[in-house]
Amino acid sequence: MQDSMNRRIVLASRPKGRPTPDNFRIESAPIPAPKDGQLLLETVYLSLDPYMRGRMNEGKTYADASELGDTMIGATVARVKQSRHADWKEGEFVLAYSGWQEYALSDGRGLRRLDPHSAPLSTALGVLGMPGFTAYSGLLEIGQPKAGDTVVVAAASGAVGSAVGQIARIKGARAVGIAGGPEKCAFVKDELGFDAVVDHRAPDFADQLRKACPDGIDVYFENVGGQVWDAVKPLLNKFARVPVCGLVSHYNAGADGAKEERAAIDLQDLLFRSLTVRGFIQVDFVEQYEADFLREAPQWVKEGKLRYREDIVDGLENAPDAFIGLLEGKNFGKLSVRVKPEGQQSK
Ligand code: NDP
Repeated sequence: MQDSMNRRIVLASRPKGRPTPDNFRIESAPIPAPKDGQLLLETVYLSLDPYMRGRMNEGKTYADASELGDTMIGATVARVKQSRHADWKEGEFVLAYSGWQEYALSDGRGLRRLDPHSAPLSTALGVLGMPGFTAYSGLLEIGQPKAGDTVVVAAASGAVGSAVGQIARIKGARAVGIAGGPEKCAFVKDELGFDAVVDHRAPDFADQLRKACPDGIDVYFENVGGQVWDAVKPLLNKFARVPVCGLVSHYNAGADGAKEERAAIDLQDLLFRSLTVRGFIQVDFVEQYEADFLREAPQWVKEGKLRYREDIVDGLENAPDAFIGLLEGKNFGKLSVRVKPEGQQSK
C-alpha cells in the first residue's frame, strides 16, 4: 500500500521527574517531497537512548533542549526511498539522525552509508554505532585498562556497559559487571563472559561488590551514579581512572521536587588516592570513530569477542513506553524501535 502520511512523535510537554505517555504526542503530516539535492529517508530502526531524557528538560545540558512541539530527536537506520541527490541511490541504507518519525528529508550531510551484508543494520545503532564507540573511546582513552586491572562497569547488560566489560577483557583486564536483577546478571556473566557480576538491587550490594573486587578497582566506568557510585568509591585503588560517561539514575530525579541525586566527589579522595575522574561525551573522541573503532570493533564482533544483545520493540507508536522503561531498567540490551521491517519498505 502506498503510504501518504508521515507519523512522528513530538515533545508535547516537559516531564516532571519520570516521563509519562502524555509528554509525547503522535502526529501525522503528508510525507514531504524531496527537492533537487535532497533525499527522502524512510526509517527502518530508531535508536532510543538515555541522553534523550535530558533534551526533554528546559535549558541546555551539553546540548540544546528540544522545544515543545519538536519531533523527538534520535539516530536512525533509514532507507533512501527517493533521491534527487547525485551521491545517493534509492534503496541504499544509511545511518541518519532523523528522529522519531517514519520519513524525513535530508540533504545528505551527516549520513553514513551502511552495508546490510557486512553486519545486521540494527548494530549501527548499538554495538557498531554510538554506544559501542562510547564504550571504546571512554574506556581506552580515559580508563586505559592494563592487563590484570580490575575494571568495573554498571548497566553492564546494556549497550554501553556490555561493550565496556568485553573490551576490558580483550585488553587483558578483569571485568566486573553491575546489573539489575538475576536475568541480566546471568547474561552478563554467562553470555558476555564477564569475570564477575553483582546485582545492584541486592540488599547487600556494597558487600557483594567488595567481595567481587578483592584487589580493589583500577577502572570504574561510570554509567549510573547514585548508590552504585557510593558503593564503588571506597574500593577505588591508588591511581584509579573513572571515565564519567553517564548518570542514568539521576536523569528522572529533581524536577518533581524529589531530592535530586548527586554523585559526591571528595577532593581529598582525589588527592590522597591520585584518582583521575574525567567526564566525556563520545564526540570528544570523534577522530577515532572511523580510524580506530570501525577498524577494530567489527572484527571483534565477527570473532565473537564482542557480543551484543538487542531489545527491539515494534512500531513507532510504542517508542514512548519503551523509552520510559529504559530509564527504569526495563530494557534488556540495546533498545531500538523497528519502525518498518527491513524487507517491507513501502513502494
Ligand atoms: P542501557 O542500555 O544500559 O540502559 C540503561 C540501563 O541503566 C538500564 O537498563 C538499567 O540497567 C540502568 N539503570 C536505569 N536506571 C537505573 C538506576 N536508577 N540505577 C541503576 N541503574 C539504572 O543504556 P546505554 O548503554 O545506552 O547507556 C548507558 C549510560 O551511558 C547512560 O548513562 C547513558 O546516558 C550513557 N551514555 C553516555 C554517552 C556519552 O557520550 N557520554 C553516550 C551514550 C550513552 P540495570 O537494569 O542493569 O540496572
